[in-house]
Amino acid sequence: KLRVLSGIQSSGRLTIGNYIGAMKNFVELQDEYDSYYMIADLHAVTVPQDPADLREQTEMVAALYAAVGIDPAKAAIFVQSHVHQHAELGWLMTTLSYMGELERMTQFKDKSAGKDAVGAGLFVYPPLMAADILLYQAHLVPVGDDQKQHLELTRDLAGRFNHRYGETFRVPEPFIPKSGARIMSLDDASNKMSKSSPLAGSYIAMLDEPDVIRKKIARAKTDTGMGIVFDPQNKPEISNLMTIYASCAGITLDEVQARYEGQGYGAFKKDLAEQVVAMLEPMQKKYAEIRSSGAIHDILRDGAEKAASIAEKTIRQVKETMGFLSPR
Ligand code: ATP
Ligand code: MG
Repeated sequence: KLRVLSGIQSSGRLTIGNYIGAMKNFVELQDEYDSYYMIADLHAVTVPQDPADLREQTEMVAALYAAVGIDPAKAAIFVQSHVHQHAELGWLMTTLSYMGELERMTQFKDKSAGKDAVGAGLFVYPPLMAADILLYQAHLVPVGDDQKQHLELTRDLAGRFNHRYGETFRVPEPFIPKSGARIMSLDDASNKMSKSSPLAGSYIAMLDEPDVIRKKIARAKTDTGMGIVFDPQNKPEISNLMTIYASCAGITLDEVQARYEGQGYGAFKKDLAEQVVAMLEPMQKKYAEIRSSGAIHDILRDGAEKAASIAEKTIRQVKETMGFLSPR
């Protein structure tokens, strides 16, 4: 079986961008692939996190994985920090990275912009992400569009390691959805929707209540002019809302356009809110059940155990190859 690895940071409340761009594919791939889905808490602390919030957010991501349909009997769901090999290989990948290539990463540039103190963890985020993937010799990595550059770097680092020390890592392929790979912010279609945004109106959280969702969509920015027309260049805001609609309703953009021909923004937004609510409601119900059952801890223990057995094999081989003396 081919292998899949991906993850989501426990850095806030998951958004519909995370679902449409990434998690939806996690669920789709689990039947065909040997799948590993982690909660990236080591990545989350590349920006300051309140300890109590971090714990809660980590459980929240884990329970949401299960709530959207990731089946722990098929896929390993685990917390990154529970498998210490991530930190270990992350360091080795950092030593393999060049300052110049890390400085070119747009996520680093975006997240450090305007800050007078930039954490070094943000800078070495990409080599840790490379380690996450390479530890499992993953064939495929389902991610949103913003992670494409990090995946390219992962491929470079794998190739560099193999070239320097001999064939060790599989060079992974990205798996990026054709539509919905980059859901934009509701108040500014030049920024991607992000769970760590301080502006709650810029995103729809997967756990937002129906009335909150309706309000946020009603207030979402729309382009001047009119018409429900997909044209990301000239109508970025309405095109973004159409992308969300298509994904929630499970139809194509053409079908959305046809359905709303001759109609105004108001009617479209009202329906869009109902589509989003209808998609999220069953997940929210399942989420509440999972949280109250306490089952998540067992799922995470089993997931970490399964993940660690593969991660340990890889790290042992890597250390041997690099010339680390093994303890006797
Ligand atoms: P943060 O602001 O903390 O970086 P985030 O919303 O970007 O949070 P991540 O944990 O960094 O979430 O990313 C998890 C996955 O979700 C990645 O595969 C990423 O590409 C995808 N993703 C994030 N935001 C979007 C978006 N707006 N549209 C589509 N996919 C997204
Ligand atoms: Mg992100």
